[in-house]
Amino acid sequence: MRVCFDSLAGGANPNEDWVGGSPDLAVVLDGLSTAGLSTGCRHGVPWFVAHLGGHLMAALAEPSVTLPDGLAAALERVAALHPECDLADPGTPSATVAVLRQRHAVLDYLVLADSPVVFEGTDGGHTVITDLRVDDVLPELRTEVESYETHTPGHREALQRLVLAQRQVRNTPDGYWVAGANPEAARHCLTGSAKLSDVRSAAVMSDGVSRLVTEYGMATWEDIFATLRTDGPRRLIETVRKTEATDPTGRRWPRYKSGDDATVAYCQW
Ligand SMILES: [Zn+2]
Repeated sequence: MRVCFDSLAGGANPNEDWVGGSPDLAVVLDGLSTAGLSTGCRHGVPWFVAHLGGHLMAALAEPSVTLPDGLAAALERVAALHPECDLADPGTPSATVAVLRQRHAVLDYLVLADSPVVFEGTDGGHTVITDLRVDDVLPELRTEVESYETHTPGHREALQRLVLAQRQVRNTPDGYWVAGANPEAARHCLTGSAKLSDVRSAAVMSDGVSRLVTEYGMATWEDIFATLRTDGPRRLIETVRKTEATDPTGRRWPRYKSGDDATVAYCQW
């Protein structure tokens, strides 16, 4: 497997996405926004995703370890790195997870929350693996955030209300699951396998990239893979940025930030 990737912060703040690749693995993590609220952790989201990504790559280097077991082990190891922090804080640093691993002629995938793995089939079709359970909770608070233009006090306050409410249901049976301090989250991933012979290429990405198709409707998956094949990940992320620049305050496409951190790992054989 040949993995080519890129990742860019959405604005002036540090990038809270993380990406890693090897001849067998592609991993993308998207750290959840804290909206400026406390987390109980003095290290921060970029620290969390960097350590989770590194430990996940290490755990999955052993082919007999399943993707959920590798994620559970990595979450345990990262939690053990900062026992002095309040890991029971509902705002503890957390991330979405998307993994693609090659085992000979089989491709195993895992997604937790809304960073998708997308397969481009040899038949020309596209299969999107994503976990949108977060979209089912707190719809009224999400609508409220989207009623404001970005960079307004109303938007900031509504986003904080949403994030505070999300924290109450995050990683509970009534809510949705993300990778935080509790390894239990690894039991709630979507997982599956594809036959390598059915796949032409694949892309593992954060929603900062996939939104070009799913939220903005400004590209098809066919367009996405054509850009990746011809020009590579950086050009695709630049296309997202150019699209967002036409709507800097989110009037056309209401959203949480003008530009979200954007990451894509493109896998070819
Ligand atoms: Zn910490």
